[in-house]
Amino acid sequence: MLQDKQAALVTGANRGIGYELVKQLAEMGFKVILASRDPKKGSEAAQRLADSGLDVSFVDMDVTDQESIRQAAMTVTETAPRLDVLINNAGVYLDGNAKLLTMDPAILERTMSTNFFGVYLVMRSFMPLMKKRGYGRIINVSSEYGAMNAMSSQGAGAYKISKLAMNALTRLAAAEVRGDIKIYAVDPGWVSSDMGGPSAPRTPKRAAELILRLVTMGSEGPRGGFFRDGKPIDW
Ligand code: NDP
Repeated sequence: MLQDKQAALVTGANRGIGYELVKQLAEMGFKVILASRDPKKGSEAAQRLADSGLDVSFVDMDVTDQESIRQAAMTVTETAPRLDVLINNAGVYLDGNAKLLTMDPAILERTMSTNFFGVYLVMRSFMPLMKKRGYGRIINVSSEYGAMNAMSSQGAGAYKISKLAMNALTRLAAAEVRGDIKIYAVDPGWVSSDMGGPSAPRTPKRAAELILRLVTMGSEGPRGGFFRDGKPIDW
């Protein structure tokens, strides 16, 4: 039965690591919802994958906009009455060379709004679909910059704080949920996307492969944790 197929949703998936995550999840047999804040880019990306025979559909979702998230959750609940995997991938890196204490506070605000509140609001809105069946795997795409030991060196302050807060949210939420629902943070490594730049050594394809190791974590696996390349690392 079609509705028995496992379903996954990836945010910020019109390009970069998110796009690869969608492609590989669909190749693994998931019905995948590609979420993007840009309807044109998002629907074209989903169509490209659907044209190659993959079960991919598009939903419009800006993670900084509560109404947009609410609408997306309603659409997903109607079209895929289950959600097994949620990947919070959408992210921004806006610091440039700015220093934390002298930067325009709007940079910190916008970064937190996407990388932290966005993840919080999306988890809240989609959690009922997981709770209903007592099963779910949530992966929050973090960064080595979100580890506590990254706070001792200056640079990328807004981004670091946002990913540190995302990691804290991951731990707290993992401690709160019941059933076979697991919530992980993952560092994808330095990846050659628009954000990572062309010199990054890891391709989005390889990053997605390593992130998706967590999707197949069995019920005996840890409830939460911070991972890189499928192995636990320090928060
Ligand atoms: P990209 O810049 O290539 O892609 C970012 C994606 O996030 C785009 O699809 C973008 O959409 C989307 N996005 C941004 N803001 C929003 C929003 N408000 N609502 C919905 N979507 C949004 O980056 P990557 O693929 O490299 O990054 C993916 C994740 O990996 C991020 O969370 C990033 O922090 C993390 N990461 C990346 C590293 C790297 O080296 N690349 C290293 C460590 C972590 P749009 O096209 O509309 O802008």
